[in-house]
Amino acid sequence: MNDRIKDITYDSLYKTFEERIAQLKKLPKMREDDSIESTIEKHGFSRRDFMTWAGAMTAMLSLPATFTPLMAEAVKVADRLPIIWLHMAECTGCTESLLRSANPSIDSLIFDYISLEYQETIMTAVGWQAEQNLEHAMEKYKGRYILMVEGGIPVGDTENFLTIGGHGHSGKHTAELASENAAAIFAIGTCSAFGGVQAAAPNPSGAVGLSEVTDKTVINVPGCPPSEKNIVGTLMHYLLYGTLPALDVFNRPKWAYRLRIHDLCERRGRFDAGEFVEHFGDEGAKDGYCLYKVGCKGPYTFNNCGKQKFNQGTSWPVQTGFGCIGCSEPNFWDTMGTVNEPLRDRLYATTFSGLGADATADRIGVGLLTATAVGIAAHAAIAAVKNPKK
Ligand code: SF4
Ligand code: SF4
Repeated sequence: MNDRIKDITYDSLYKTFEERIAQLKKLPKMREDDSIESTIEKHGFSRRDFMTWAGAMTAMLSLPATFTPLMAEAVKVADRLPIIWLHMAECTGCTESLLRSANPSIDSLIFDYISLEYQETIMTAVGWQAEQNLEHAMEKYKGRYILMVEGGIPVGDTENFLTIGGHGHSGKHTAELASENAAAIFAIGTCSAFGGVQAAAPNPSGAVGLSEVTDKTVINVPGCPPSEKNIVGTLMHYLLYGTLPALDVFNRPKWAYRLRIHDLCERRGRFDAGEFVEHFGDEGAKDGYCLYKVGCKGPYTFNNCGKQKFNQGTSWPVQTGFGCIGCSEPNFWDTMGTVNEPLRDRLYATTFSGLGADATADRIGVGLLTATAVGIAAHAAIAAVKNPKK
């Protein structure tokens, strides 16, 4: 794209965002006594921190830096989008990772600020009153609310393995009902996106991902847990655009899941040089060598962990010395092999069922991916022969 066309495109996008924010401003403010500025200030963040966050979020969504003030404006109206968050069969790890941080980041404070109309972990209502709140929220915000679902959903003969509340509704029933009038639907975490650990063979509860119980489009934000950046980024993307983001073949937003862990990894130079950790605790481990031979599944996994990191952006698994286990891929419990062993050449066809992982997200087909998988194994073997001390 030449610069002039790019400018025209960005100009019209800027205007679209301005109009969208102006429309949202007209909706009733749900938190009369609060603002994002006072929320972050209470937790010791300055305006400068907030603008730095807005700049980073703008870059993460692949927008030019000139959009930063708009991003900051968009957060201010985030409370206009009511959110209903349902818990299905899961460990609540996604909620915990987002909301229960001892030192909340600006991302988690945005979740404090938005209008979470229903969220079982943090709401005070229980039993009948909780159910009533859910029904009320679905009715009051019909067609306007964002539905976020955490957890796998048992279906078939085992549907009632997940039965919630005084009315004894199954999780499937509640998820279907809530999906009907949602403006947008996000499956938060690998369980909700693909079934997760509940769906691991032999899947005794018959758990499936949310997209299998609704015919509406579900945006999958997988990870075990997904980073707070990917959750908040998906929300901010919807807030600004008012439409669904570009998705890969597994309905993951391309802005977050377009590249492989391996492509963004700080140890990639070690991989290319054939420098591998052979055993945890060896000299290579101390020197930050590549973790492929001790099981890293980064070459087969699409996510942005190496770039966005966890815990307020401080670290991520590979940085700490443990390989990626492939948690944002469908059925990773069954298809990613033993945690501390490399996959070598035995995996691709089964992992991706011939679909390809929409690698990078469109450039590499399954054939090349398979070749890459074999190539990785061969590379590791050749490197070991050439460099026997590693
Ligand atoms: S195999 Fe893992 S540790 Fe090695 S470069 Fe790739 S992602 Fe990084
Ligand atoms: S590094 Fe791999 S296993 Fe760890 S969170 Fe990211 S995608 Fe999941």
